[in-house]
Amino acid sequence: MLRTLITIIALGLAATAMAQDKPALFATTKVDGTDNVYVFRYGNHQAMFVVTPAGVIATDPIGYGRPQAVTTYIDEIKKVTNQPIKYLIYSHHHFDHIAGGKAFKDAGATVIAHHRAKDRLAFLKDPHTVLPDEVVSDKGRNITLGGTTLELTYHGLNHSDSTLVMRLPKEKIIFVVDTLPVGQVPGRGMIDFHPIEAEEFIKKVLAMDWERLIPGHPGPNDRLGNKQDAQDQLQLLQDASAEMKVMAQAGKCWEPAEKELKLSKYESWPGYAAGLPLIARRYCGLWGRGT
Ligand SMILES: [Zn+2]
Repeated sequence: MLRTLITIIALGLAATAMAQDKPALFATTKVDGTDNVYVFRYGNHQAMFVVTPAGVIATDPIGYGRPQAVTTYIDEIKKVTNQPIKYLIYSHHHFDHIAGGKAFKDAGATVIAHHRAKDRLAFLKDPHTVLPDEVVSDKGRNITLGGTTLELTYHGLNHSDSTLVMRLPKEKIIFVVDTLPVGQVPGRGMIDFHPIEAEEFIKKVLAMDWERLIPGHPGPNDRLGNKQDAQDQLQLLQDASAEMKVMAQAGKCWEPAEKELKLSKYESWPGYAAGLPLIARRYCGLWGRGT
């Protein structure tokens, strides 16, 4: 009896300690130095929203497999402002970032995405992902609301074929999802990745005027990215590409090249062990198969 009681107490203490170590399920953070730019994080995904005197511009509902993330997101916006949500902008077409938009649409938001995202979503008919109401052409589009301008631009293939770069010119902030992880080795995102074009994309993004990058997955200690992070990501891809090219042209793809790739320079980065085989596979596809 006593031993059982002690065990229960010990388990309880362990659970409390674990709960304290784990980050909160979600968080809404105002970006330092801005009046109106927020990051909403739920689990390991995050989105940007911008509050203006004429309404809210929201991005990515991040509700794949968890509709409660979307209701939480809308509740969090309501805690900050009583302005209506006017826009919901999809960063790209991947469901882990854009499922759950119906709640935003029901709240009156106009859903906007790159035109290729709409084509793909129309084909896939995912029951949890609403189609965009309006599309952005490859020429891009500006959203202006309550004195805030958000530029939506397309810079070619990179991660997915429908990624929009969202830039707040006044605040010098960009929101780019999945192509530019902050201080992390890319992983599952490599499944839909265009290696050659992605390097060009990153160079184009580096040439734009911005200082801070909000990524679609939180960076180490939730920090935002900067141009050095984008440069580092480009370097990582270039290093991986160069390594795999040699192995692939020596006839080593898929095996043993996939097992032999090492990028020891990035060993200390989060996601290294999990990301390496996915990176190797993608570049084996490129240099070993021509895909
Ligand atoms: Zn993605």
